[in-house]
Amino acid sequence: MNQETLKRMDLDFVLHTYARNWTHFVKGRGARLYDEKGKEYIDFGSGIAVCSVGHGNERLAQAIANQAKNLIHTSNLYLIEPQAKLAKKLVELSGYDMRVFFANSGAEANEGALKIARKFGEENGELKRYQIITLDSSFHGRTISTLKATAQSKMHQYFGPFPDGFVYAKDLSDVPNKISDVTCAVLLELVQGEGGITPFDKQEIQNLAKTLKEKNVLLMVDEVQTGIYRSGELFASQVYGITPDVITTAKGLAGGVPIGAVMTTLKDIFAPGDHGSTFGGNFLSTSAALEVLEILHTHKQSGELDKTIVYFTHKLQDLQKRNAEIFTEEVGLGLMRGLRVRDLETLTKFLSVAFEAGVLVLKSGRNTARFLPSLNITKEEIDEGFKRIESCLAKL
Ligand SMILES: *Cc1c(COP(=O)(O)O)cnc(C)c1O
Repeated sequence: MNQETLKRMDLDFVLHTYARNWTHFVKGRGARLYDEKGKEYIDFGSGIAVCSVGHGNERLAQAIANQAKNLIHTSNLYLIEPQAKLAKKLVELSGYDMRVFFANSGAEANEGALKIARKFGEENGELKRYQIITLDSSFHGRTISTLKATAQSKMHQYFGPFPDGFVYAKDLSDVPNKISDVTCAVLLELVQGEGGITPFDKQEIQNLAKTLKEKNVLLMVDEVQTGIYRSGELFASQVYGITPDVITTAKGLAGGVPIGAVMTTLKDIFAPGDHGSTFGGNFLSTSAALEVLEILHTHKQSGELDKTIVYFTHKLQDLQKRNAEIFTEEVGLGLMRGLRVRDLETLTKFLSVAFEAGVLVLKSGRNTARFLPSLNITKEEIDEGFKRIESCLAKL
């Protein structure tokens, strides 16, 4: 179907929740995408950190096809072999002594975390503790409660009344001020993905973790974007040297098949009936995730992932230094990186001219160009992407 017909159909029948770019991609290979006119793009966005092993990955496609030909779904009423194996693998590769619940998205994984926090708060302490502290510029999802957990007031304009019990801290140092008799948990990202790609300071995070432990308040880390080797380790929490009480993850876990996971050291927090999901952890998504983890673990073990991080970061830093009047700073962790752009207008223009030149770059916050390449992107693909970016800067 051609782009114009498809656009018309989309406008007529799909709710208008996205400010879409109307490009019609028809093919993907590695970090390359092709539109219907055959134009090639280098994808530095990976479908927002989702396509962790690139597009058209043969191994992932085989794993999905093999599983689909046999069983896609039976429900959580029965044993699911790849689900148990995936839980074991997440625990073993992370080194965290946890158990896992599987959902279908980041928001849903966070819903699970919120329920863990609330049940913990109910069972521990004299008072019923229910408040959850989150941070300014955070992003935790689009369901009614994760939207309220997201401390960005512009997103709370409609949709109320929201569930009670969310308290916002300005920054890490403000978190202790917000702890009260009824606080049960703190939920935060270690690098805010939608809030401008700013990694928090390692020492400050470790100090906060210690404070929370002393006060018997849960530390819940939203690794929906930072997780699954995006930071250079399976979880950014490992880079920060902390053991959270709860970790949520989703985006890159199954390379594009919808999945979410919430992991916790509170291994017996839930009893049968407390939580559940029809689709969560089914044969298809967990088989896909197992293959993704195998691919990425090997990539990490071989030293290739670390090399790619160094190479990509060096390319970005070099670009920033040589164009300091456009890009004021290079920021990030692992392959979750950002370039601060001098103002919003230039940022918008940059994303658009880069796209014209054949490179997909994302936006984060009000002044950051965000780079989330696939974790197995090649040196050649990186070079080509940066070459195209160089070629379009004169237009700014
Ligand atoms: C994307 C994201 C979410 C929401 O995930 P969905 O799969 O869109 O529900 C939550 N938290 C963070 C940090 C994210 O980046």
